Amino acid sequence: AKTAGRGRVVAYTDQLGESYSSHVNELELFRNALSKNEIIAFAQTQVDAKTKQITGCEILARWRHPHRGIISPDQFIPLAEELNLVAELDQIILGQAIDLDAKLLAVGKPLGSISVNVSASRLASPTLLTELQARQDLPDGLVFEILETAHLDTLDVDVAQTVSDIKDLGIRIEIDDFGTGHASLASILALEPHALKIDGMFVPGIDTQPERAELMRSLISVAEQFGAETVVEGVETLEEAEVLAQLGADKLQGYAFSRPMSIQSLVEQMSGLKTF
Ligand code: C2E
Ligand code: CA
Ligand code: CA
Ligand code: CA
Repeated sequence: AKTAGRGRVVAYTDQLGESYSSHVNELELFRNALSKNEIIAFAQTQVDAKTKQITGCEILARWRHPHRGIISPDQFIPLAEELNLVAELDQIILGQAIDLDAKLLAVGKPLGSISVNVSASRLASPTLLTELQARQDLPDGLVFEILETAHLDTLDVDVAQTVSDIKDLGIRIEIDDFGTGHASLASILALEPHALKIDGMFVPGIDTQPERAELMRSLISVAEQFGAETVVEGVETLEEAEVLAQLGADKLQGYAFSRPMSIQSLVEQMSGLKTF
């Protein structure tokens, strides 16, 4: 299974050996993991850029493997893609995001927003809208982070119409990884998102190199011109956070504030806060 086109999978199977049979074995392991509830939601907080108060969180999938510990999505999303199970993965994670919302409500600490990642294949799924409409328990602050917007026009469905119907359900739309090859300017015109999530690759150096800060300023001003908010991810230091607040970013996410954590940890942290 060692082909260039499968780079990410090779990196993963390297631990176990690179044979075709071990790759097939990995696929089977992942398929079982989904049905055995080993795919779980972690959450990373987002803060208001000015006040640094927690405003919401992004839900990030993890594979809790019985022997290998916590495995990151970069290692199992390619398996899900190969098995055509990304839409199912996203659905499972949405269910856990809704559970989190209920738990936070129960301790009297609801978050303003709970964001989930939505793959292009899930957006194209003919059952997505009816599934969403059937749920009585959609959180008020639910956000869909749309991935791979560069490829949306190759899908067989009218994605702009689907996204518009999703907005009608009260779900906010954000374009993920904005500024990278995965997310295009055209997608802003087509989807009219509530916010752009500016990719973490643009963050390092904004506090030390003027040209880096200028590039970030331009990205934020693109969002402003379209009336969209900005969330900047990958913020690792408080110095970067300070510059971003000055440049007018709305929300920040990154190790400077918190690492992705289990749902239980987040609920404990939130219930311990007197205010937020
Ligand atoms: P993403 O949506 O761009 O998520 C942000 C990634 O940046 C996460 O990686 C997060 O852990 C990481 N991160 C957060 N703060 C920092 C920081 O300060 N510095 C750096 N260097 N990184 C930071 P993670 O959790 O490994 O997820 C990787 C990607 O996997 C995500 O990128 C997303 O595209 C995908 N993914 C995660 N969960 C799901 C899911 O439920 N469904 C789908 N379809 N994709 C998912
Ligand atoms: Ca995301
Ligand atoms: Ca992102
Ligand atoms: Ca990313």
